[in-house]
Amino acid sequence: MSLSISPSAALILVDVQPDFMPGGALACHEGDAIIAGIDELLRQRRFRHVVATQDWHPAGHVSFASSHVGRKPFEQIALYDQPQTLWPEHCVQGTPDAELHPAIDWSTLDAVIRKGSDPAVDSYSGFRENHGPHGNRPSTGLAGWLRERGVDEVFVCGLARDVCVLWTAQDAVALGFRASLLWSLSRPVTPDSDAATRDAMQASGIVLG
Ligand SMILES: [Zn+2]
Repeated sequence: MSLSISPSAALILVDVQPDFMPGGALACHEGDAIIAGIDELLRQRRFRHVVATQDWHPAGHVSFASSHVGRKPFEQIALYDQPQTLWPEHCVQGTPDAELHPAIDWSTLDAVIRKGSDPAVDSYSGFRENHGPHGNRPSTGLAGWLRERGVDEVFVCGLARDVCVLWTAQDAVALGFRASLLWSLSRPVTPDSDAATRDAMQASGIVLG
């Protein structure tokens, strides 16, 4: 991968967890195809700052269809006046399928941001939770962590390209970082979402990396 990486750039690896791989509870299309490339990128040690996010839900989380009577996975409901997709139960805290993927050498990670641990609020972005009961989007602390290390640019990859990766890159731009989405090191949960994801990236000022 030919990337121009400055010392003030960070790599953000979003939700590279078994539950998002084929065979997992919330499988992304060809999600396992990114494992070798991410492992190689980490081994190259080209980024001075490397962060992973980890979807990390308590049992009975509000994003699970099973938490809503009569609802099925992938239905949409209104939650705090915002659309909320209901998902299969996934990335339950402490379960093996919620771990960072075991086939990747994570030893060069600087930080792990766990998200989605509020039982009543979902969190797609690594920077801010989704809309919650008070109308705000609580910070995960990632923006401050990056700024205090002098980071002004982020490269985002992982799963799912059309949900948590996109939201993370969009929030990065909204919070003042330059952001690139590493397309080949991401995969979508919805296979026909690529055109919409590219449109959203362009509208948000995210660079295709
Ligand atoms: Zn989740």
